[in-house]
Amino acid sequence: MIIDSIQTAIGNTPLFRFTHHDFFDIPEGSVVYAKLEYLNPGGSIKDRLGVYLIKEGLASGRLTKETTIIEPTAGNTGIGIAIAALAENLQTLFVVPEKFSLEKQALMRALGAELVHTPTEEGITGAIAKAKAIQKEHVDSYLPLQFSNPANPEAYYHSLAPEIVADLGEEITSFVAGIGSGGTFSGVARYLLERNAAIRLVGVEPEGSILNGGASHSHEIEGIGVEFMPTFLETLPITRYATISDSDGFAMTRRLAKEHGLLVGSSSGAAMTAALAEAAQLPAGSQIVTIFPDAGDRYLSKNIYSREEY
Ligand code: PMP
Repeated sequence: MIIDSIQTAIGNTPLFRFTHHDFFDIPEGSVVYAKLEYLNPGGSIKDRLGVYLIKEGLASGRLTKETTIIEPTAGNTGIGIAIAALAENLQTLFVVPEKFSLEKQALMRALGAELVHTPTEEGITGAIAKAKAIQKEHVDSYLPLQFSNPANPEAYYHSLAPEIVADLGEEITSFVAGIGSGGTFSGVARYLLERNAAIRLVGVEPEGSILNGGASHSHEIEGIGVEFMPTFLETLPITRYATISDSDGFAMTRRLAKEHGLLVGSSSGAAMTAALAEAAQLPAGSQIVTIFPDAGDRYLSKNIYSREEY
């Protein structure tokens, strides 16, 4: 395969098939499929969003060649936008809460982005407020705001979801995926629902996220979990939310690496934990689809594979 730009290598990721032989929780005859989004060139599912946001921004006239793109991000969206911005020679500036991994910050910088930090305690809400304040100082700037921009779920509706249906057909029993902005979950869920109204939709969050009604507090699983209800989820018929502890999420992340060679991040471990619980409660013959959003090597400084406490 010969390519002329790295952006063309985004998408068309494989689906990894897990059966009873891999995990006893999966009834014989049922299958859990995981979409390996960490194999995208920027190492995450958010490469798809970067390309889509910039294409949409240029088409709608909100972006020109002179525009600086500003975005609050935990890192993967920044990396995705920076990769897409390179192809168009656009400047990028990302507002990142301090707690997020150093590797993700280094990767954003490697791609030419400028970074501004906000205090960990202020969460993503603080980063959003700071990004809005910075935008006012930049005359020609564009703030895509993944948390409220409908282009976020659309990116997944138009790219990731059709790939799943092309590989598996429309009879998917259950879709289980992590929720950060909610873009991936709602975009894919809508596409699948249009093809099978009976599909079960299971949103995955870490303990410390508010979707199941608990109080908001910090957690170690990175990339998922919310401090407020994402707007994209409001009208979706969600079957239930699965709340996964840091210790279960990290244990599964290590197991995926050690037993299957899947070097994924902790949100993938959380998604797999929830997908297995879902498989265990469904009849044999079910098809459960989940998503492994990013790569684990961007969390090595956080001892993702060697931490003792989890
Ligand atoms: N996992 C990881 C590692 C992420 O970075 C993100 C995006 N923050 C997600 C899952 C969740 O994706 P979304 O924002 O589309 O809900």
